[in-house]
Amino acid sequence: ARGLMRHFITNKPLFGAPSIVQAVNGVDFEIIEGETFAIVGESGCGKSTLARLLSHLIEASEGSVIYDGREISGLTGAELRDLRREMQFIFQDPFSSLNPRMTVGALIGEPLRIHKIGTPAERRAKVAELLRKVGLRPEHADRYPHEFSGGQRQRIGIARALATGPRIVIGDEPVSALDVSIQAQVVNILEDLKDEFGLTLIIIAHDLAVIRHVADRVAVMYLGEIVELGEAAEVFAAPAHPYTEALLSAIPIPATGARKVQTKIEGDPPNPISPPSGCRFHTRCTYVQDICRTERPQLRDMDQGRRVACHFADNMSLEGIRTDNQAR
Ligand code: SF4
Ligand code: MG
Repeated sequence: ARGLMRHFITNKPLFGAPSIVQAVNGVDFEIIEGETFAIVGESGCGKSTLARLLSHLIEASEGSVIYDGREISGLTGAELRDLRREMQFIFQDPFSSLNPRMTVGALIGEPLRIHKIGTPAERRAKVAELLRKVGLRPEHADRYPHEFSGGQRQRIGIARALATGPRIVIGDEPVSALDVSIQAQVVNILEDLKDEFGLTLIIIAHDLAVIRHVADRVAVMYLGEIVELGEAAEVFAAPAHPYTEALLSAIPIPATGARKVQTKIEGDPPNPISPPSGCRFHTRCTYVQDICRTERPQLRDMDQGRRVACHFADNMSLEGIRTDNQAR
């Protein structure tokens, strides 16, 4: 994705005129085939919009998405259908995204019918196989979604997403609606199937704990911008952006149950209709300096493929500000 932008016209005008919300503001990154790529940030940061831009479910205002060497906005007809077949979504609330009057078998087989794949008998066999893959039974095909638990319904959602043999599966908050105890199970199923089918997985989450053990790389978004991107293990071990640090400090440390307390995110995110000047995080950043209010930090390359958008991204600078703050 290069210079990707998406502006929405809101239906809630400010000052009498429709306002433009920059849901995604010039983000640049690439997804590597076969990886699990996580996009994290608070709700409203633009991560779902970004996922829809990647799969061309919505049109970008500016910038481009290149898939297999092709600009996706130029795809039409059969090529666009191929893209849809190769990129499948798993949505947050499995119940609302499944039609309650269709049997589980019809729901899982629907993408096969839409894409005219196989005979009815072949589709039934495929549905049975998919049900087994996600830990359900072939006879579950004749039942209805409401007869299943939340975790089982999300397994049905996964089976449906895999029906067309996609290359890329995008999970938009795939486990956010589930009990914490079930979340890891469902994420693990996704990860196992990713290996088995050689998928590329894009997982969108507001909760870092969910993706901590499965993501190869992670992009952290704040108000429509990527503020940090890198190898997940390294980002988690040593966050370079103050916002990432704050997000991580909100997760209990498993070994001790204690929370890191040096940083926390205060208040609600600012209104995306009129984002703060300079660094968009400056209104909530504990390291804020004068330059942050006026100059927008660019996403800069650091060591080991890490990219960070903060004027003080190298740890020594932030350490210096932290020491100054404590001295005050
Ligand atoms: Fe904080 Fe300034 Fe860095 Fe923005 S640029 S994250 S306000 S220190
Ligand atoms: Mg969302």
